[in-house]
Amino acid sequence: MNQKHDFDLARERMVRQQIEARGVSNPVVLAVMREVQRHLFVPEAYQARAYDDCPLPIGHGQTISQPYMVAVMTELLKLKGHEKVLELGTGSGYQASILARLARWVYTLDRIPELSEKAHRNTDACGITNLTFIVADGTKGWPNEAPYDAILITAGAPTVPEPVFDQLSEGGRMVIPVGDRFSQTLRVVQKKQGLKKVESYFECRFVDLVGEHGWSET
Ligand code: SAH
Repeated sequence: MNQKHDFDLARERMVRQQIEARGVSNPVVLAVMREVQRHLFVPEAYQARAYDDCPLPIGHGQTISQPYMVAVMTELLKLKGHEKVLELGTGSGYQASILARLARWVYTLDRIPELSEKAHRNTDACGITNLTFIVADGTKGWPNEAPYDAILITAGAPTVPEPVFDQLSEGGRMVIPVGDRFSQTLRVVQKKQGLKKVESYFECRFVDLVGEHGWSET
């Protein structure tokens, strides 16, 4: 058995046991989780654990999210394929790649230049090209390309950052973990007649969203 074969098997097992078995059922989301090679987005030292049921360190005190969390957040966005998407928290670029496979274009922001650069190389290696990498404080959104049909925040926020909500299209969906620094609730925030319609899902734990409309640096 070669290593590629091992990774392919591990990925198939990840999708069945961690994602499908826990209720993610959108066939398009499942197909992309089967397709994108997660091991290309984790540091070499962790590659053998790339398909484990947990987040993994990617340097700078940050993590690549647990596969199940990536799948659930993606499913909650209900992408159809035509969307312009904003992601806050590029990290490894794995989630951004999943989104890019399901939408027209993805703008992904991180505040740490080294992570953004590495993520860009990772997506290039996967042949994914419909995304733009930006180094900036994502709590202010990215007004240059607003409005966005969908927004995903992959770091824990104290509240929904108002500038980011302002940049959501009417009828658009935002998925965001909101809470304190230790535990958050995964929320879907829709814009209906300019107002927030909020649904809460389950408890989760993300690294901090640090910025002007997020947490302050410790
Ligand atoms: N989506 C990533 C995981 C994100 S980890 C993946 O698929 O690998 C959270 C990321 O949010 C970290 O890389 C961190 O640097 C970034 N982050 C935290 N605060 C931010 C802010 N205000 N703006 C942009 N990125 C931020």
